[in-house]
Amino acid sequence: VSNLQIDGDRLWQSLMDMAAIGATPAGGCNRQALTAEDGVGRELFRTWCEAAGCSVRVDAIGNMFARRAGANPTAPAILVGSHLDTQPTGGKFDGVFGVLAGLEVIRTLNDHNVATESPIDLAVWTNEEGARFAPAMQGSGVWAGVFEIDDAYAATDKTGVTLETALRDLDQLGTEPAAPFPIKSAYEIHIEQGPILEAKNKQIGVVTGVQGIRWYDLTIQGAACHAGPTPMNARRDPVRVLGQLLEVIYALIDRHGPRARVTFGELRAEPGSRNTVPERVTVSVDLRHPDQTVFDQIDRDLRELVGAATLPATLDEFWHSPAVTFDATCIETVRAAVSARGYPALEMVSGAGHDSVYVARVAPTAMIFVPCKDGLSHNEAESATADDLSAGANVLLETVLLTDAR
Ligand SMILES: [Zn+2]
Repeated sequence: VSNLQIDGDRLWQSLMDMAAIGATPAGGCNRQALTAEDGVGRELFRTWCEAAGCSVRVDAIGNMFARRAGANPTAPAILVGSHLDTQPTGGKFDGVFGVLAGLEVIRTLNDHNVATESPIDLAVWTNEEGARFAPAMQGSGVWAGVFEIDDAYAATDKTGVTLETALRDLDQLGTEPAAPFPIKSAYEIHIEQGPILEAKNKQIGVVTGVQGIRWYDLTIQGAACHAGPTPMNARRDPVRVLGQLLEVIYALIDRHGPRARVTFGELRAEPGSRNTVPERVTVSVDLRHPDQTVFDQIDRDLRELVGAATLPATLDEFWHSPAVTFDATCIETVRAAVSARGYPALEMVSGAGHDSVYVARVAPTAMIFVPCKDGLSHNEAESATADDLSAGANVLLETVLLTDAR
């Protein structure tokens, strides 16, 4: 057990300095991936890291790694970090906290002349949010070998600018290959983006995994007809069938308990006229579960329900992020760090995607959560207390030290 304490005021000040870049009038941040604002944020990060004695390298997809050298030059790195890009109306803490908590850990080690055996690599992953370029978690995905780099380069924003051009324009197209290097353990600390820690009055979440996510489009084909003259029993009304389907799908999800979640966030009827029975309805489906076996079973049941609909219906899956179970040793290390520091904590599964989902494919990984006010995120009002953020950074510090010692 170490007695090192991070400097909470310095951490808070760094968060506020970063939040000033792309600050919105409503108190949030608009620092979307590889915009001019992101470029300024990246330069500030580089300046801070170099002042802290780190060497900064940038890989071919723009991921930044600031390295604090270890005593053993051949030891695998301890990786910490997250992302600096935000949603268009994002907050001050999502991602940024994970990066600047890592910086605060390095600054604290420097202040106390603590040498670690392993080097510490502090990562800034490119385009985690997926707001300007799709998909999300792009930099970590390319790095982990989940996405082809040429596909990522070709991604365009709404104005037709490719990600490759954006990288070049900001001088962030690095020379390092975007590929894993030897890593002992990887940790990402993040605001929870949900209400559970706050509701249960806990300061730290020990994150054991990430929910699986499937995105589908559900389409039901009917026949358009006049809303007046056509009797109800003579219609092929896709909305009626949608109503029946939604009822059985909700029942399926409820049978699987509170860890299963389904959301129909976008509904579209075509042609979209008040006095015409729609020809077709299309509904977005977002399905989540933390256990891949159960998740796959729900997927099969869902397909069966859609197949049994009384009008032609299709369920097109176009994105699947499998459920992730984090590394047992990394989780145990976070647990030990929390108990050494004595903060009230809870074990939980992340409901949102994170870079750690992809990092976990190539390195032993775990995450740490801290509460955020009202569970709010992807919102300019996103808020967290300095006290909780300090507690989280202290857990990250302890986690790094325990990892180095094992
Ligand atoms: Zn994030």
